Amino acid sequence: MAREGRLYIGGGWVPAHDGAVAEVRDPATGAVVGTMAQGGPAEATEAVAAAAAAFPGWAATPAPARAEALRRVAALLGERREAIAALMTAEQGKPLAEARGEVGLTADYFLWNAEEARRVYGHTIPASTAGKRLLALRQPVGVSAAITPWNFPAAMIGRKIAPALAAGCTVVCKPAPATPLVACAVFECLHDAGLPAGVANLVAGPAEPIGEVFLTDPRVRKISFTGSVRVGKELMRRAAASMKRVSLELGGHAPFLVFADADMEQAVAGVIASKLRNAGQTCICADRLYVEARAFEPFMAALAERVRGLRVGPGTDPATDVGPMIGAPAALRAERVVEEAVAGGARLLCGGSRLPGPGHFFAPTLLTDVPSGSALEAAEIFAPVLAAWPFEHEEEAVRRANDTPFGLAAYLYTRDLSRAVRVAEALEYGIVGVNDPVPTVAQAPFGGVKESGVGREGGAEGIAGYLETKFVSLALDPGPSGRG
Ligand code: ADP
Repeated sequence: MAREGRLYIGGGWVPAHDGAVAEVRDPATGAVVGTMAQGGPAEATEAVAAAAAAFPGWAATPAPARAEALRRVAALLGERREAIAALMTAEQGKPLAEARGEVGLTADYFLWNAEEARRVYGHTIPASTAGKRLLALRQPVGVSAAITPWNFPAAMIGRKIAPALAAGCTVVCKPAPATPLVACAVFECLHDAGLPAGVANLVAGPAEPIGEVFLTDPRVRKISFTGSVRVGKELMRRAAASMKRVSLELGGHAPFLVFADADMEQAVAGVIASKLRNAGQTCICADRLYVEARAFEPFMAALAERVRGLRVGPGTDPATDVGPMIGAPAALRAERVVEEAVAGGARLLCGGSRLPGPGHFFAPTLLTDVPSGSALEAAEIFAPVLAAWPFEHEEEAVRRANDTPFGLAAYLYTRDLSRAVRVAEALEYGIVGVNDPVPTVAQAPFGGVKESGVGREGGAEGIAGYLETKFVSLALDPGPSGRG
């Protein structure tokens, strides 16, 4: 049954003022999954007003009560896991098992932040004079805007909204145009958990006019964004006008280093898990494979054999390993980049092109001998495409891994403990997986260095991003002893 998604403003589900809706399509079949109401500046402003009105009450709600509400959200996500996962597979394409995992991770963000809400501690500071007491309080930033991408349509909402609400902030969220219905399903859990009206609001619609409201309305104090480097830079530049806080989780271009002493079977499985999860559309997925030269040929042969055996198909089929890409432009771009690399002398080990429709399927692709200057070297491909290069020694591997403006995630496989520590410390990345291809968990900080963003989400750092520190200096009366 086609779903009709609405905006969620001030505790109610509402259509756009002009009744506008956009179709949402299944990337595996092209079928219409449902429609989503399309708000604009007026609806975004209403959402900000609702969040601003709800803020004082929510900020003043005792932390255990906020925590209890977030625990109810986590429980509802758990109860509705199958239904939300099925919707996610229909709307976004990822295999059902991955979708179930993502709903579980989303619930984890709410649960972990519910627990953390009770531990937002300030501190006291020794004063320089007898009559003073110095306090550092931690208070919620205020109304926070969350702009989320389509590749993890539930988890990215959870990772932003759960810490914001735990901290006492209220939120306005704009989901990606491709995946608004999963956003509605998450917000249904927020609603059914009994969050007070206006504490969390959802406005879908064209990105720029809604983003403009978030950037210019003085009631919005923070913008949290996950998406492209290009848009992230634009938001940061524009947020500076009113000094809004930003946290930006942008693209990566992850190097994946395999040393000759690694467990090769584990490393092959690791490359596949990192690169091909979500059809290569993950900002932390392996993008550049570097294998120690003496292991290069056998490693690539083993990897290619495994990759050729993977099943590409609709996410609803339990036998599917790799689902469709999100849309035709993304698949066409990936094909063009591969064609250009091959025309320049790259060797194709497997895949290389789109597969017959109706969905946006792309054959998992491995390339070696990629010519320098290829787009594959320059920035993330966001597709099930991986280029590989041999390296001679550790210093070269680290240098090449770091030779990029991006710094989100990096991976290394080795059984040498000293090398693991040395290389993990030398990699200029916010996240390093050592023999671990899937490092994301609710309790750990996630984010990038260099052009991959600012701020961290997840873990204690995540909630810290929604808190300001206020210094209170108390000068006391002298009192009976005269010393204060
Ligand atoms: P992707 O290429 O992964 O779609 P984008 O950066 O284009 O990444 O989009 C990520 C999110 O940012 C989406 O919700 C999108 O609608 C939103 N977005 C895109 N452009 C803007 C903008 N100028 N202002 C605010 N949000 C934007």
